[in-house]
Amino acid sequence: RAFGFRSVDEGEKQGLVNEVFHRVAGRYDLMNDLMSGGLHRLWKDGMVSWLNPPTKPGFKVLDVAGGTGDVAFRVVDASKGAANVTVLDINGSMLGVGRERAEKKGVAAKLTFVEANAEELPFEKNTFDAYTIAFGIRNVPHIDRALAEAYRVLRPGGRFLCLEFSDVNLPLLDKIYDQWSFHAIPRIGQAVTGDGESYRYLVESIRKFPDQKNFAAMMEAAGFGRVSWRDYSGGIAALHSGWKI
Ligand code: SAM
Repeated sequence: RAFGFRSVDEGEKQGLVNEVFHRVAGRYDLMNDLMSGGLHRLWKDGMVSWLNPPTKPGFKVLDVAGGTGDVAFRVVDASKGAANVTVLDINGSMLGVGRERAEKKGVAAKLTFVEANAEELPFEKNTFDAYTIAFGIRNVPHIDRALAEAYRVLRPGGRFLCLEFSDVNLPLLDKIYDQWSFHAIPRIGQAVTGDGESYRYLVESIRKFPDQKNFAAMMEAAGFGRVSWRDYSGGIAALHSGWKI
């Protein structure tokens, strides 16, 4: 079956990504649970525990492609309300869901929502203590620009953490995961959001994303030091860490 999004170039990609997330925003959180069997919650917990934000006020975190706020809420909790978190996303529909959730949870005052592009961050250099991005960077057309911007806005000594789908490195899991992602996920997407095509795009974007080692090399090329990563669930997701040193 021809895959509609396959041949898009980088210039068109952002527009298509925006449509996808605009269409699925209202059902995005439910879909995450269904697609990952709830595992995304554990991976995000792992990300924030590796960040280990201090409980003293003043720690500034930028959560890019922050969507509906999952990482930001965890940073606020882990810092016992001390961290100051900016949730940045290119998509107003996703941020709208995030804002509503923040109000319901009573944490809206701890968060700032900014609609902007990861490739052109509207902040001065050396602004943040940490930059997080979860399941976002593979949607950005020019990953090298996003990494360069991450490096620029971090203060010297600041931390970069990226959680993303990655390369499954267990032989049997590999096969099961292929079946799941190519067949089950678009069907669940169709049933829950009425939009199987968007989820076909998302699965495809996972396939095209560089594996653990290559993404680490891209981070190093952007200037990050002490780059390392942890695999989750046999490499279904990987968490990369680096420092602006
Ligand atoms: N971080 C959230 C999470 O883990 O649940 C949301 C991840 S969601 C799969 C990807 C997000 O990336 C969407 O909200 C989308 O709007 C955002 N995004 C895509 N391209 C972007 C860009 N160029 N700059 C900023 N955000 C972008």
